[in-house]
Amino acid sequence: MPGTPTTVYIGLGTNLGDRAANLHQAVQRLASCSTLLAASPIYETEPWGYADQPAFLNQVVQSETSLTPLRLLNCLKKLEVEIGRTPTFRYGPRVIDLDILFFGDRILQTGRLMIPHPRLQERAFVLVPLNDLAPQWIHPVLGKTVQQILADVDTSGIHPYRLA
Ligand code: ADP
Ligand code: MG
Repeated sequence: MPGTPTTVYIGLGTNLGDRAANLHQAVQRLASCSTLLAASPIYETEPWGYADQPAFLNQVVQSETSLTPLRLLNCLKKLEVEIGRTPTFRYGPRVIDLDILFFGDRILQTGRLMIPHPRLQERAFVLVPLNDLAPQWIHPVLGKTVQQILADVDTSGIHPYRLA
């Protein structure tokens, strides 16, 4: 239905510079792409994919948007640049990474955008904060709740982060 806002979950990650400030800035600026409904606690997490880099801070936010998925992605990519992300390599260090995890119950598989995020079921650093906000949310492809998906991953590298 046009004009009806959709609930979306966005994953945030940072491992360069003042990581807590990067997250804070990203959450503030997300208001230009969507209406913020809730933010998870912050976790400090061991690097994934490419281990020889600083630890990440990760967080998930729930928000509502009337944008299309592709327009939301473009809005997030713009924020990444504004916050100071410069291109590195895949899974490499970054000032901020903003990923669309779920966009309502939409399923999209294009070169530019895959929803649900194709690797979220493998990533404890996404699933732990997502589970804080939406344990009963059903993954539209896997047909499992976030809580059920989380039960199958190793969460030993995920630590609650206390702001100094
Ligand atoms: P990654 O997050 O995998 O480390 P990037 O943030 O550089 O890598 O993203 C690479 C590309 O992934 C983006 O330019 C975007 O087009 C694409 N992409 C596909 N699906 C998504 C999604 N659900 N959320 C964000 N980006 C996505
Ligand atoms: Mg990304």
